Amino acid sequence: MRDPRYDILFEPLAIGPLRAKNRFYQVPHCNGGGYRDPSAAAAMRGIKAEGGWGVIFTEQTEMHHTSEITPFIELRLWDDKDIPALRKMSAAMKSHGALAGIQLAYSGINGSNLYTKEVPLAPTALPIRTFTNDPVQARAMDKADIRNLRRWFVNAARRSKAAGFDLICLYGAHGFGIFQHFLSRATNQRGDEYGGSLENRSRFAREVIADMRDAVGDTMALTLRVSLDESIGELGFSNAEVRDFIEMNRDLPDLWDLAQGTWEDCSGPSRFKEEAAQEALVRGIRDLTDKPVVGVGRFTSPDVMARMIRQGTLDFIGCARPSIADPFLPRKVEEGRVEDIRECIGCNICITGDMTMSISRCTQNPTFMEEWRKGWHPERMNAKGGSANVLVVGSGPAGLEAARALSLRGYDVAIAEARDQIGGRVARERLLPGLSAWGRVVDYRQYQLSQRPNVETYIGSPLDAAQILEFGFENVCIVTGASWRADGVGRQHVVPMPMDPAMPVFTPDDIMEGRVPSGRVVVYDDDHYYMGGVVAELLAGKGCEVTLITPAPYVSDWARNTLEQHAIHVRLAGAGVTIVLNRGVTAIRPDGVETNCTYTDRRDLTGCDAVVVVAARHPNDGLYHALAARQADWADGGIRTVRLIGDAAAPGPIAWATYAGHRYARELDEPDIGDDLPFRRELAELAAD
Ligand code: ADP
Ligand code: SF4
Repeated sequence: MRDPRYDILFEPLAIGPLRAKNRFYQVPHCNGGGYRDPSAAAAMRGIKAEGGWGVIFTEQTEMHHTSEITPFIELRLWDDKDIPALRKMSAAMKSHGALAGIQLAYSGINGSNLYTKEVPLAPTALPIRTFTNDPVQARAMDKADIRNLRRWFVNAARRSKAAGFDLICLYGAHGFGIFQHFLSRATNQRGDEYGGSLENRSRFAREVIADMRDAVGDTMALTLRVSLDESIGELGFSNAEVRDFIEMNRDLPDLWDLAQGTWEDCSGPSRFKEEAAQEALVRGIRDLTDKPVVGVGRFTSPDVMARMIRQGTLDFIGCARPSIADPFLPRKVEEGRVEDIRECIGCNICITGDMTMSISRCTQNPTFMEEWRKGWHPERMNAKGGSANVLVVGSGPAGLEAARALSLRGYDVAIAEARDQIGGRVARERLLPGLSAWGRVVDYRQYQLSQRPNVETYIGSPLDAAQILEFGFENVCIVTGASWRADGVGRQHVVPMPMDPAMPVFTPDDIMEGRVPSGRVVVYDDDHYYMGGVVAELLAGKGCEVTLITPAPYVSDWARNTLEQHAIHVRLAGAGVTIVLNRGVTAIRPDGVETNCTYTDRRDLTGCDAVVVVAARHPNDGLYHALAARQADWADGGIRTVRLIGDAAAPGPIAWATYAGHRYARELDEPDIGDDLPFRRELAELAAD
């Protein structure tokens, strides 16, 4: 069944005293659940085991209470009380023959210890480096501190073993782990035998790994995760130094886990980073060591994966996001079902769950982190309910996902789409600069639907309430999307702003329909996610003189949660866009826009020839309300239920739409749970006293 081209991906390989069954290696990744949602996180990892991954890791696990990264929610291994939750995780990981790995993190200069109130420890006394610029500094470790930390690592290794793990990954990448802090001259400015030469800076890693090997190395494998290049100029741990370090310590860990730069560099979204973007940085490193090497690069193509191994660049294919979007990726390759792979689109919405300390979602895989909370399986739907058929009106991400999941449950599904192509907003947004990979949201579902006998798709079919009442479908799902508002309503303005009709005003919908302004254009971004920046980039590319004005302190403010805000600013600055922060637009005049300072309200005028308003969207819910108004006629029309979901109910990112579509499909015909909570959660056990 399997294409022989991919056989190489299924060759077992030793890691220290262990043997991985194949080359699919789920590198550590966060999920926003962590210690707060241990069963949800465990079930998510268990699904990956079922999906065929050979190695599965936890997210970063804070291995000692003197170093933690509150408010971010990861795992903890502070004492024996944490072992049961982690044992549940390792058991889920090992349920289908995968090796279970735990990533131990001591955050050093990256942990501000807001929860434990401990003084942070680091190789050198410097301010703590986090996303939030906490006003906290670290104390430089003395020799006693280093001895203590070595012992804490041994304690954590013993606890990891007791918790059932096979591998330990020591975190020294992304600027997040103490091993990098010792290795880099930027964060290690010591004058003793732990600082200075590369050999000295390597000493801490060598000592910890030797200690841990003595403690658990007979049964566990130890891996070291470092960044391929710290990317901060001369002082940083450069790619050349990484190579020297690995050559000098060629047998140090049982496997080298090679990540890249900061987390933003490593998990670059598809808008800024191609698949296998780290290939040049990783090539040749395998020749410097006798140990296997794993690397990442948002690998979704089995051909690229096989090439990486065949060329001798990597031994294991490291995946975080591709394993989130499709936990069954390895099994689909093995079963010769490559076209069924649900490819990651590189939107980084999954990362926002961690950044917002909520719980992660995935645009492509709505079941992510709902495996335990809701009992959702990424490949299997619940049994069909009592009714027979569904009319899905609209073919955006919500409609397509609803149709796909409903058809798997066994319903007869008809999709009606007003336009001449399916895909809704994705069909248009995929044509915007940098967003082509987002088209996979449609491509995956379009192919899946084409394989189903029980789905009919009608394009060029704008429906009204009267037609729907005539058709006789038992269930009607209204997924008619949303339209960008031109009246300025958003966050700054809760009612329309004053606009002089002499000034041409555009919305992102106009731009996507090809109605593009020229000359001096103000892009007013009160949406704060990607659209304002993308429109500015597009218009600059078409020769407009673009000024982006936003009341936020950052361009594309919310994109800090997708780790791309920095890259967006750099790209817009490079494209010649004038970026005006902390200013709103109070009125649109015939010759320009009146702006105001977010803090002082001081007014100013910016002259322009056109304005693009990127603010709120208006839900297209007219059809739903027309049907609701005729509820008395539903029974005659054979209609049992009418539901409004997706952007037509409440506009949001694409991930919210696929989630809504999936949820609709899951819940159709299911018993009404009344006022009960629609998901499971875990509560901390109350102490006896
Ligand atoms: P969502 O993100 O919620 O899936 P989209 O805006 O992407 O929403 O998709 C909505 C789709 O519904 C669009 O392709 C639009 O053309 C289609 N649509 C809107 N109104 C109707 C209608 N009355 N009949 C059929 N299709 C419609
Ligand atoms: Fe990929 Fe986006 Fe899903 Fe993350 S949320 S795994 S980036 S598709």
